[in-house]
Amino acid sequence: MTNRYAVIGHPITHSRSPKIHEAAMIDLEIDATFEAIDVAPNELENWVKNEFRNEFQGAAVTTPHKEAIRKYVDAETEVVKKIGAINTLYKQEDKIIGTNTDFLGILHALQTHFTSLKELKCLVLGAGGAARSAIFALQQAGAKVAIWNRTESKSETLADEFGIGILPDFVQLNPIHFDIVINATPVGFQEWESVIPEDFWHPSHIAFDMVYDPLETKFLSDAGDAGATIITGDQMLIGQAMEQFRIWHGVEIEPEVMEGAFFE
Ligand code: NAP
Repeated sequence: MTNRYAVIGHPITHSRSPKIHEAAMIDLEIDATFEAIDVAPNELENWVKNEFRNEFQGAAVTTPHKEAIRKYVDAETEVVKKIGAINTLYKQEDKIIGTNTDFLGILHALQTHFTSLKELKCLVLGAGGAARSAIFALQQAGAKVAIWNRTESKSETLADEFGIGILPDFVQLNPIHFDIVINATPVGFQEWESVIPEDFWHPSHIAFDMVYDPLETKFLSDAGDAGATIITGDQMLIGQAMEQFRIWHGVEIEPEVMEGAFFE
């Protein structure tokens, strides 16, 4: 029987996961299918416990299910316990395991520009699942992290949990204090807006936006105009998908294969 894989979310039409995973499976001649499935929040439990358990070998999990799905898996990896979100399901001896590869996607995106992140000063914008993955990734790599979030109580929770600093606003900030600035909010997704002021940017900055639709966001455009280096969201998507591919199929895929499919 042909193995089935899927990405689930609500909505799910924007997902590029089927394209990049299908291209990788074709490249390595793996006989399997990859579907995008819209699963509403009230259908999630049934989908995991029945559909996934009986029909699928692996699944990518996206918004809004990354936290809620934790209740329905048989076990989760240590990384999930730390980050608090699942983006990947796989099976081990018929048990459903939840893990998270987003943090590896973040490191993949940054590795193009840095051989080491040790002691670099990073500002993460947002306090959701993607921000938590970024903080975890950066701390693993030895970087120093501060966060800004629209809702300050959420920044405080993350600051306590991860032992990091909070940036209350952009007015008091000396921008060149930071080496890397990461947008982990959805601001910029299909709209020309940025969470930080245009005059924030400096040529010494690395600006990394997790949003990949569009690839060039206002956040990156403002940074680029000021002479900063920019990293687009496709790099993270591909990095996290490469790790999913390794978990599901037991083989490595070259990033160029997924990159080619992303831009088709
Ligand atoms: P989430 O859990 O819903 O968190 C969203 C965060 O963004 C919250 O901290 C929220 O602040 C903030 N936010 C939302 N709207 C805002 C606004 N108008 N102004 C200021 N802040 C705002 O989402 P997530 O799962 O962390 O994902 C965040 C983004 O990362 C999404 O665009 C997602 O597509 C992207 N992402 C990309 C990849 C990739 O592979 N490239 C992987 C994962 C996620 P409050 O606390 O104030 O509500």
